Amino acid sequence: METRRIRNFSIIAHVDHGKSTLADRLLEVTHTVEDRKMRQQLLDNLELERERGITIKLVPVRMNYRSREGVDYVLNLIDTPGHVDFSYEVSRSLAASDGAVLVVDAAQGVEAQTVANAYLAVDQGLAIIPVINKIDLPSAQPDVVRGEIEEVVGIDASEAILASAKEGKGIGEILEAIVSLVPAPSGRRESPLQALIFDSVYDNYKGVICYVRVFNGVVRTGQAVTFMATGLNYQIEEIGVFRPQMEPVEELGAGEVGYVVANIKSLTEAHVGDTVTDSRAPAQSPLPGYRKIKPVVFCGFYPIEREDYPQLREALEKLQLNDSSLFFEPETSTALGFGFRCGFLGLLHMDIAKERLQREFDVELVATAPNVVYHILRTDGEIQEIHNPADLPEISRVEEIREPLIRITTFVPTDYVGKTMQLCQDRRGAFVSMDYITPERVRLVYDLPLAEFIIDFHDRLKSVTRGYASLDYEQRGFQAADLVKVDVLLNEEPVDAFSFICHRDASYHRGQTVVRKLKELIPRQLFEIPIQAAVGKRVIVRQNVKPLRKDVLAKCYGGDITRKRKLLEKQKEGKKRMKQIGRVSVPQEAFLAFLDVS
Ligand code: GDP
Ligand code: MG
Repeated sequence: METRRIRNFSIIAHVDHGKSTLADRLLEVTHTVEDRKMRQQLLDNLELERERGITIKLVPVRMNYRSREGVDYVLNLIDTPGHVDFSYEVSRSLAASDGAVLVVDAAQGVEAQTVANAYLAVDQGLAIIPVINKIDLPSAQPDVVRGEIEEVVGIDASEAILASAKEGKGIGEILEAIVSLVPAPSGRRESPLQALIFDSVYDNYKGVICYVRVFNGVVRTGQAVTFMATGLNYQIEEIGVFRPQMEPVEELGAGEVGYVVANIKSLTEAHVGDTVTDSRAPAQSPLPGYRKIKPVVFCGFYPIEREDYPQLREALEKLQLNDSSLFFEPETSTALGFGFRCGFLGLLHMDIAKERLQREFDVELVATAPNVVYHILRTDGEIQEIHNPADLPEISRVEEIREPLIRITTFVPTDYVGKTMQLCQDRRGAFVSMDYITPERVRLVYDLPLAEFIIDFHDRLKSVTRGYASLDYEQRGFQAADLVKVDVLLNEEPVDAFSFICHRDASYHRGQTVVRKLKELIPRQLFEIPIQAAVGKRVIVRQNVKPLRKDVLAKCYGGDITRKRKLLEKQKEGKKRMKQIGRVSVPQEAFLAFLDVS
């Protein structure tokens, strides 16, 4: 394949502005997919994506296109997600592309993620083709939107293409713009092989499949290759392209996008961002790869059945292959047994990971309440990073607790500015700036503790603005705050899974909520059980579960012996599913019910 006939591009946009629909039209017009196989949002393969109507994973696909001048091109399109939690997917797609089609909804205009994603593309030096989509809508205002793209995103939009992905308008212009404005890949076939792994997935038949963009050289079946970061060697078993299903080819040369299958044994050997090179004639240095991404939201995943622990580990490894921003490490809890502490880029990411584990890998699990990562400045001067409130050192050894801060950018109609500011203030937000995008819309910027954001900030924002606000955020490092760890004690014994860290002012209120809920869930036992919330040694909330004299056999007085025996057996069974916290038996169900709703 001649590199000058190749164009690699991504489609980027704010959520719902029409990326996936536009991708469908491009596939149709280029006859990549037969008409009878065409269905809506074809590239959203995951069942979850189709159900929720959102794109979670990047998807590459190769198309053939004959331009109006009669020249044949190969176009590699990478459809990307729009939600902030998945911006790592977007940046990886962009690193495999030379241009980006920026889709903006003609009725909604520029939104928070339009700007964020466009900046990612600008940072990577990509050619950007602005497309104003949904011009079929009666409320479309293409001229206003053109102005917004120029003013807010800061790119020339005089040539922006007016399109309707739904009705198939403007699709030809978009294809022409891609071949004329997106530069051909710059690599050389003659140079040593350098192929960037930009994603990977586990397949039951083929094993690990790596998605690659070849920057230099050629990769062929049978070739001996080295993964530069790990130094491990493999033989290439299969090479192919996405059409969009996998289709084997003989080779992939400089500029091409496709996949490679090698005899990769362990799931942890394929790293996204690694460079594949030729073992016999290796490249001097690897490609830049990706910046390491750090998870900021953590929770525990525990198998519901203890025996499922190994399955959960394997499922996490397989999922991590396809979701390189997922983090996990083993952890044990007195209440829940063996499980994993998992790290995510946000709550939606956590939610999606949990669902994918259950659906794609068939493991039943319970997730503990999420918390953010904390940096603890200890009295010995060291900084300790903790992922679990239970790991907080003795309070006498803690100098300062630092929490992650984010900077949120919201685009809000002027009518809702007051309410949005109020919401930010209630969440310990610090005002940064406000400016008018148009007379009707304002860009509002606040710094906010991430912990306040993950509770339900996005939902609250949607409700106070009736869904008219859009939101994006970026991490802003760590900041000390007056935070305390609240322990929950059952009969004087702390229960690790229930500990949490929060702002001192909120500790009483949150402690009370937890204690009240636990009181409902814990069955009465032979003795009185105090449930307490405490900060250090100071108890801030206390309630009691009243004692009960429970004599199961009393009911069967004079009854037949087999029934008595059955009851005793049943009680024994029940005991097995009880967790012993000191002298208190807590039904497993109580933990699950408690954790699932919090
Ligand atoms: P994505 O989140 O950017 O991938 O957006 P989708 O392609 O999933 O589209 C979001 C919604 O907008 C869907 O309901 C589409 O049917 C609709 N949509 C996409 N393009 C158009 C268009 O040109 N006109 C109209 N009226 N609706 C569109
Ligand atoms: Mg989509």
